[in-house]
Amino acid sequence: MSAQIIDGNALAKQVRSAVAQQVAALRSRGIQPGLAVIVVGDDPASQVYVKHKVADCEGVGMHSVLDRQPATLSEDALLERIRALNADPDIHGILVQLPLPAHIDAAKVIETISPAKDVDGFHVASAGALMIGRPGFRACTPYGCMKMLQSIGCDPRGKHAVVIGRSNIVGKPMAMLLLQANATVTICHSATADLAAHTRQADIVVAAVGRRNVLTADMVKPGAVIIDVGMNRDEAGKLCGDVDFAAVSEVAGWITPVPGGVGPMTRAMLLVNTLEAAQAAARS
Ligand code: NAP
Repeated sequence: MSAQIIDGNALAKQVRSAVAQQVAALRSRGIQPGLAVIVVGDDPASQVYVKHKVADCEGVGMHSVLDRQPATLSEDALLERIRALNADPDIHGILVQLPLPAHIDAAKVIETISPAKDVDGFHVASAGALMIGRPGFRACTPYGCMKMLQSIGCDPRGKHAVVIGRSNIVGKPMAMLLLQANATVTICHSATADLAAHTRQADIVVAAVGRRNVLTADMVKPGAVIIDVGMNRDEAGKLCGDVDFAAVSEVAGWITPVPGGVGPMTRAMLLVNTLEAAQAAARS
């Protein structure tokens, strides 16, 4: 069997185009959705990510503010900056790029963002809303993975989904979204005794570990849908995921590539969340 590819670039393009249309509708009413991105320090990967996020905003007609701060910025000064953005009516979404320097408490920073502007979906109010099935911002990566499933007509209802990884930003919200969509969900992690025994039973596998070849062909049920969130580098320095893509493609029904899979969808869902934040603000 040769798996069909879930093309994250193509799907993200569709999402961006739909967002752009709705941004235009809001702008015709005098409201321009605005995203503020704060980056502290000069981590090269973070600098690239924030540049993309700002460019994505411009691409769909949103207003964006890129706030670059030195690594020496104090925690108090960062919290003060966030409070100012919370009060700024032109800003509908606030994103603080992680990781933060060690002297800054990331949890405190995230909790300072107004839940109404928490477009990353990391605030405890957003996580709690997801947990109890209330509306709220969904973390962009798992939200994007759900859109990818939807795009191939994969309804998780009644299916067995295995999520590998239990981080607060990917694994746990992914599991909750799948549960909400009526999948039977198994969450695996570093202490899982026999990962393959779980994944072999799965109709859907989401790999979110950050380690190459966590999922190999012998661990996959024929025809399964494989979503690869991982971002790693191979020996040649080339970007790759957690899944042994070539071999798993021979067994799976559908698979996301890396690059060109979950990554572009994560970026697109940030725009969706920012749009939703602006629409909610316009209603209030
Ligand atoms: P994380 O916080 O490091 O979490 C990794 C998870 O994997 C942990 O829950 C860990 O278990 C689990 N794990 C580690 N080794 C394992 C093993 N051998 N078997 C099973 N589970 C294992 O990472 P994250 O932030 O969730 O990110 C995961 C990956 O996704 C990274 O490669 C990251 O770069 C990538 N990512 C990609 C996007 C995107 O847009 N494409 C977005 C976010 C993240 P414990 O909890 O027991 O330690």
